[in-house]
Amino acid sequence: MKKKIAILGSTGSIGRNACEVAKNLAADVEVTALCAGSNADVIAAQAREFKPSVLTLADDAARNSLDGKVPDETRIVEPDDFISAAFDSGVDVVINAFSGVRGLDASEATLLAGKVLALANKESLVAAGELLFSIKEKTGGDLIPIDSEHSAVLQAMLAGRHEEVTRIILTASGGPFRTRTDLENVTVTEALNHPTWPMGRKISIDSATLMNKALEIIEAHWFFGLPVEKIDVLIHPQSIIHGMVEFVDGSVVAQMGWPDMKLPIQYALTYPRRCPLPGRPLDLADVGKLEFEQVDRSRFPAVDLAGRVIAEGGTSGAAFNAANEVAVQAFLKGELKFTAITSGVAHVLEIHKVEPATGESVRAADAWARKEIAEWIAAR
Ligand code: NDP
Ligand code: MG
Repeated sequence: MKKKIAILGSTGSIGRNACEVAKNLAADVEVTALCAGSNADVIAAQAREFKPSVLTLADDAARNSLDGKVPDETRIVEPDDFISAAFDSGVDVVINAFSGVRGLDASEATLLAGKVLALANKESLVAAGELLFSIKEKTGGDLIPIDSEHSAVLQAMLAGRHEEVTRIILTASGGPFRTRTDLENVTVTEALNHPTWPMGRKISIDSATLMNKALEIIEAHWFFGLPVEKIDVLIHPQSIIHGMVEFVDGSVVAQMGWPDMKLPIQYALTYPRRCPLPGRPLDLADVGKLEFEQVDRSRFPAVDLAGRVIAEGGTSGAAFNAANEVAVQAFLKGELKFTAITSGVAHVLEIHKVEPATGESVRAADAWARKEIAEWIAAR
């Protein structure tokens, strides 16, 4: 029986790669549900390719424009009805590739239904990791990372037992400003110009501030059940080693590959098995050298915010994530300086009153943090 998959955010950077992977795995998987924001042309082409049972776009006008452009067997549903319609169509695995915490409802619904969540949408885990993992424990659902560093660690973990792990190391390319000293006046175009990974706008800015690594440290804390002291970050400009695991005997196991998200996406769908994936084999002689350096935490203070969020727990992750989402959008609109993204997020964490994490408190902290940072930005 083929595995039935839903791709949420199918028109984005991860979503399009997920469609390529689904074509590669066509003998074993079937795309039965597709969902995105507003890109009608791309989702219509995907629908003609996969003939899914259900499909939606969040944007009303874009969704209405799809009439007559998708195959007869594909039902266009309202966004609010999409997840339940996807499960009715027999979906086993949800690839959550939405950008931002809007992905939380889908992450929660997938685990509540006891299904497999292949997660690119790190924001939902940062905002509600405790909640999502407690749902997973109750329902027997599963959560598998797509983020390349976490996929690498998952792969390297297989070399030992969990209790033998002393440390994991998440690599970071360092983003476009790895060697730049004056970060005050960087432009949006400069910040979007990532050196090794082509990605959506939000994560590209997160990679430039290194907020992405803070999000990933928190993500790793939930995925691997490790305290922040056991989660290190290392700058590695070539983006060939994606993550490493150190064991009690000093052995360090690294996972390598070209910077291409198709590999971690495919691994999330075939885990713990592997399947062929066409592409150029990794040629280390061609790469030439692999370099490493420490993170400059004075230029990139965002990284240290992760430790605070993990120590505080509860609703801290939700407030942290929401403040960052708003600050990134303000930077993209030219309303906030690049360096103020991190200061604004730190300010919100400073004034946040942490509550135990529940479905309601996490969403309330998200809304509260959005309001607080908007006021902070307006007052500058
Ligand atoms: P993109 O911005 O490229 O894609 C976002 C997707 O979400 C698009 O399909 C977009 O649809 C859809 N979308 C936007 N608004 C809505 C809405 N209101 N309702 C429903 N769908 C909506 O993001 P990425 O693919 O780069 O990133 C997705 C997630 O994966 C993020 O959490 C990111 O951190 C994570 N990630 C990404 C990596 C990468 O290489 N890109 C690597 C590791 C993690 P449309 O375009 O039609 O508007
Ligand atoms: Mg990553």
